Amino acid sequence: MSHLGSQILYSVLNSRSDIACERVYAPWLDMENLLREKDWPLFSIENRLPLSSFDIVGFSLQYELSYTNVLMMLDLGHIPLRPQNRFDEDPLVIAGGPCAMSAEPIADFIDAFALGDGEELVLDVADTYKAWKGSGKTRQELLVMLSLVESVYVPSLYDVKYNADGTIMETTPRLVRLDNGTYQALRAGVDDVVLKDWCFPRDMPCYFRAPKTVRRRVLRSLEDAEFPDKPLIPLMEPIHDRVMVEIFRGCTQACRFCQAGTIYRPVRERDPVTVERLARNLVEVSGYDEVSLVSLSSADYGHIKDLICRLIEENPCGARVSLPSLRVDSFSVELAGILGASRKVGLTLAPEAGSQRMRDIINKKVTEEEILEAATYAFSSGFSHIKLYFMIGLPGETDEDVLAISTLVKKIRQIGRSMKARPTIVASVSGFVPKSNTPFQWEPCIEPAELARRQRLLRSTLRGPGIEYRYHDTKLTWLEAVFARGDRRLSKVLELAYARGARFDAWPNLLDVDLWNKAFSEAGLDPSFFAHRQRNQDEVFPWEHVDTGVTKSYLLSERERAKKGVLTRDCREGCCAGCGVCPGLGVEISLK
Ligand code: SF4
Repeated sequence: MSHLGSQILYSVLNSRSDIACERVYAPWLDMENLLREKDWPLFSIENRLPLSSFDIVGFSLQYELSYTNVLMMLDLGHIPLRPQNRFDEDPLVIAGGPCAMSAEPIADFIDAFALGDGEELVLDVADTYKAWKGSGKTRQELLVMLSLVESVYVPSLYDVKYNADGTIMETTPRLVRLDNGTYQALRAGVDDVVLKDWCFPRDMPCYFRAPKTVRRRVLRSLEDAEFPDKPLIPLMEPIHDRVMVEIFRGCTQACRFCQAGTIYRPVRERDPVTVERLARNLVEVSGYDEVSLVSLSSADYGHIKDLICRLIEENPCGARVSLPSLRVDSFSVELAGILGASRKVGLTLAPEAGSQRMRDIINKKVTEEEILEAATYAFSSGFSHIKLYFMIGLPGETDEDVLAISTLVKKIRQIGRSMKARPTIVASVSGFVPKSNTPFQWEPCIEPAELARRQRLLRSTLRGPGIEYRYHDTKLTWLEAVFARGDRRLSKVLELAYARGARFDAWPNLLDVDLWNKAFSEAGLDPSFFAHRQRNQDEVFPWEHVDTGVTKSYLLSERERAKKGVLTRDCREGCCAGCGVCPGLGVEISLK
């Protein structure tokens, strides 16, 4: 319910009179047991229809540790787990979301991935399905038809070859034989000359192969994009219980650990007049008393201060305004002050690293002086509770860098004390997981024992009155690191772990490492190969046939700059860093 992407797609699909879209969520363990006990299929919220009665079942993959839940939902929905066991009457299983950009570990369970912005893409998939349904064509032909839709990746049409050392040699589209009628019809429907020659080799009539690489879909502008004007109202209180307006998509701050910074590029702002109109309407129709202006870094929105002031001053319904993501600077604190002036509930900032050296490595363009200045401003504005996000285990990190987190937190506490603010500082420290499509995709994730040592090191100094230290379970970091850069062979591990009872692996009390280790061993795979190995510069990655638009040479150059601690500016400031997205995908930054 808190996921804006799902709300957008729900609205886009239901705005068509020939499509009905309903919701289904992963049931908690007690409900799963009940469904099994009663032999009831998993069903939709709206009309309680069994999952298997839908034409298409779609998943939004937000986090690697939700993969076993996907298997659970298919299983409970009476849909065969693997595409090769599905019949024509079974639903088409599709998936999108950030994890779809490197989804090989779950590829063996998904018929097709929809890559990138979904507003137009989801309708293209639905229309392709409609054209197929009742045409008499086979399910395999549906997959071929889908693979010709821009930004749809059909994993079963690709073969993966491995080197003797377990790395990938190549991922190539396989040849598929079609009947002459289907072949001619599909060929005639393709206008792109390059694609036509590639997909339908001249010397092999009736043979088809999917595109060599699949590019993600990018909306040129958010202005014309569908946005839900009648939001779903939950029947219980979910997290982030408020209406949301997306003020821009994409982020070009270029933090080197951040996958979102790659896969949502470039920045496309929504006009402030449109944002205001959407916000007012949503508050009016929903009855909510809070509207959140969402994006990857909302303080970067060009008109943010004016927009907030107008929404607060002229809002007839008196709804609060909130920003989910702030930069670490005085301007952001000023915005937080405007937003929370009456509540002073607290402020969340993300310096990400304690030392200047580490912040330069990850391209977090903020100095210690600016952080302390922001803290001073926050305390003087009346905030007394500051939450700070950090990561440890970053590439090139030393014990001094880890301990610098403690030094920084104490400096901030001291500022608060000197201003008689009786400060509470919460330091939330997570283990760094290298992600695909980032400049750190070649780096190893540190081993759980070493991560635990660095956590203990930090705990030994990060204590005292007014300081709270929170850290993530090392086993979550470990499993996320395996699946974040895993290949297709991990599908077997997923299936085995699911069969042994793995569910809700993102819940530390439910994640069973022994169970997972048994699954790895039964599948003959070493989790360290995926999580803790330094990749060679020329290694072929499992996600390379999926094209984000950002070039490998750009990521490599950012990796080199990270090693030297050289900063890269935000290209919104008018200095293109040459990431490749704009020329490659035929889009451009759109500022309002
Ligand atoms: S191509 Fe240049 S301007 Fe466009 S997103 Fe990349 S760095 Fe920014």
